[in-house]
Amino acid sequence: MIVFIISAPSGSGKSTLVTRLLRDVPSLTFSVSYTTRKPRGAERDGENYFYICREEFEERLRRDEFLEWAEVFGNYYGTHRSVLDQAREQGADVVLDIDVQGAAQLKRRIPEAVSVFILPPSRQVLETRLRARGEDADEVIHRRLRDAAREISNYRAYDYVLINEDLEESVRALEAVVRAERIRRSRMEPRIGPVLETFEAGKE
Ligand code: ADP
Ligand code: 5GP
Repeated sequence: MIVFIISAPSGSGKSTLVTRLLRDVPSLTFSVSYTTRKPRGAERDGENYFYICREEFEERLRRDEFLEWAEVFGNYYGTHRSVLDQAREQGADVVLDIDVQGAAQLKRRIPEAVSVFILPPSRQVLETRLRARGEDADEVIHRRLRDAAREISNYRAYDYVLINEDLEESVRALEAVVRAERIRRSRMEPRIGPVLETFEAGKE
């Protein structure tokens, strides 16, 4: 099972890209995180997040239920430990949409995890996309733009960097990362043996 970590400043197009990735590539599951923030727009409990209150989150923290967690924009977010077991049981790879702090924690625990950082083409484009999304007040947009500058400075901790300019091109690039990582030699070993065996049989 491969763990794919995807991080990006808010408004870069991460949700759009991850949705397309999960639709287009087989055997990929999305890690549904726990959060204390309220659902937005069409979000659904158990699909986008599990929405819980701060007390419950803190209780789960005390019970050490999270693989990683962070406080982002004043809310808690965390990945439940069961996520990886569930993906493994399904025989799927898993995609985690988590912030830079969570990504660093997870990379320490799972060094072979593959990480992708998504960047908007420029600050100006990011601002336009945040406004076009029409979900945030002016003041929130300004805070997100300030935070973006700080988050972007962490790109060096990631294996891949994707500049989300043309959406279709970005979808293809992200899919290419997943498909290429799946055929890394180190991950192919279990499937190479049976192929080699057929050749050894032919020698006799
Ligand atoms: P994030 O999940 O990173 O906060 P979203 O996926 O919600 O961002 O995207 C922010 C806005 O930008 C949305 O309105 C989305 O439709 C739009 N968007 C995403 N990718 C592109 C792109 N490559 N070109 C133009 N608009 C985009
Ligand atoms: P949003 O509220 O816009 O859905 O997410 C805000 C930020 O929290 C995003 O950067 C997102 O990647 C991050 N996030 C979502 N779930 C988790 C999680 O389980 N752990 C961590 N560390 N960050 C998360």
